[in-house]
Amino acid sequence: MLVEGAVLDVDGPRPAYVRLRDGFVEEVGSPGSASSHGRERAVRGIVVPPPVNGHTHLGDAVSVREPPAGPVEELVAPPHGYKFRLLATAPRARKTAAMRLALRRMAREGVAAVVDFREEGRAGVDLLRAALRDQPVQGVVFGRPLRRPIEAEELRELLATADGIGLSSARDEAPEDRRAVARAAHDAGKRFGLHASEAVREAPESYLDPAPDLLVHLAKATADDLAAVRDAGVTVAVCPRSNALFGRQPDLEAMERTGLRLLIGTDNAMFHAPSVWSELQFAYAASRLVGRPASAAFLARAALVEPWRWLGQPGAARIAPGNPVRPLVLRLPPDDPAYQVVTRTTEQVIVRPRPGRSGPSP
Ligand SMILES: [Zn+2]
Repeated sequence: MLVEGAVLDVDGPRPAYVRLRDGFVEEVGSPGSASSHGRERAVRGIVVPPPVNGHTHLGDAVSVREPPAGPVEELVAPPHGYKFRLLATAPRARKTAAMRLALRRMAREGVAAVVDFREEGRAGVDLLRAALRDQPVQGVVFGRPLRRPIEAEELRELLATADGIGLSSARDEAPEDRRAVARAAHDAGKRFGLHASEAVREAPESYLDPAPDLLVHLAKATADDLAAVRDAGVTVAVCPRSNALFGRQPDLEAMERTGLRLLIGTDNAMFHAPSVWSELQFAYAASRLVGRPASAAFLARAALVEPWRWLGQPGAARIAPGNPVRPLVLRLPPDDPAYQVVTRTTEQVIVRPRPGRSGPSP
């Protein structure tokens, strides 16, 4: 397949043609200079690295009704919030099936990887691993220990299968527990993350001690807090739709100006479908609704580029021959790629390979 139009990747937007074979990049060049390959299928559009959903709780997908009204703490706070009662009473098979359905939806929307905070201890991690089996989505699974004070044996069990440990927040944990969890994760060569400054502002001295690999939300962070996070070299995942349900917004304009490394995630699957495209569209519009506009380029990087660097797979964020993951082809006008991708992408504009068919597309 030959795509004439533009590329949007780690090097930014540029006019280009891209030739794909079996979905992988074979050749990239200046527009109009592609040599003709006979009856090759040709489309006009934008080629991007596949997006990553930077923060989810897919286990919540077991919830199928509108969640009750109330503050976020009552809904999702461990161990007695609405969500945890739901998880505790849902049969394992139902939870796994709900997660598989969510993962299948993500795959159809072109998502190549998801960073999930899984509750329910080791058993919870095992359920998500079962749901991920044979799915084309790479799962980065942060588990959460159940016992307090923290027990070394439970952490060992958790870290045997999880990719890291994700805590609810610094203010929900004793400082010594937080440090023990971070140390255990890092000693095992794995990641440590936590939610921070979601409903109330927390001091960076708490959630940056020790420096996590991922912070989620920072909806209540001040400009100085954001600078401290940047200086600590910590990546942040924002979830604007989830925050909006509770009357909050991350200051995306300040995050961009500060130079934060950002991922974008869809948070609790009981609140929203795990669509990273919907999240991008909302982030673009909501940052304007509050008069703090973030650029489309910054938001696009949060979904398509920064996560691959964070995952230690920077090659996946570049549209070039030898790219280890298949890029996405979006049938969108290529004149202003980041703006088009952020504000207009849906499942319907993803160009799928047509096995067994050749010739130009209609
Ligand atoms: Zn979360």
